[in-house]
Amino acid sequence: MAKIRLAAPLQTDSIVDGEGLRAVVWTQGCIHNCEGCHNPETHDLKGGYLEDIDNLKKDILALEHHDGITLSGGDPFVQIDACLEIATFCKENNLNIWCYTGYTFEQLMIMNKHNKQIIKLLEQIDVLIDGKFILAEKSYACPFRGSKNQRVLDVKESLKANKAVILKKYRIQEKVNLNAYDELVFI
Ligand code: SF4
Repeated sequence: MAKIRLAAPLQTDSIVDGEGLRAVVWTQGCIHNCEGCHNPETHDLKGGYLEDIDNLKKDILALEHHDGITLSGGDPFVQIDACLEIATFCKENNLNIWCYTGYTFEQLMIMNKHNKQIIKLLEQIDVLIDGKFILAEKSYACPFRGSKNQRVLDVKESLKANKAVILKKYRIQEKVNLNAYDELVFI
């Protein structure tokens, strides 16, 4: 039976891990080692615990009133095949997919040359929050992100354009030298 390494059981009723009411799959394992990471216990590639994907699917099917699933961690792209199976299952059950990764979209496209499963997973994802958490870029003014360098990408449009396309309503930049809460500039 196929398994996924998780850091925690499926978290339901989240409103901070993407738009709408979401359930979060906390994958275990991350190689990015970002300074200031909030979830260092999720880094160990052999940490957490192994869960049958079928059990996770049962938990997902039992969700009520949820808009979608968020793949987080850890880095879901450490477990591409398992996340692809879960993401495909979610889409078949009308749940949208947000995904956090420490890789940039551009890095994933390069990695895809060696592992075509990456593009298959991207094709199932609606919104990708990409890039490492950078402590010096930390901001509380970026919805759903920890640091200003991270982007909220429209994956379908990004794949079509073959370059990172930020979801229109998230095309905002904080003015430098201003308190992050003071002003947002639309670009
Ligand atoms: S990518 Fe995310 S989980 Fe991994 S070290 Fe960076 S902040 Fe932590």
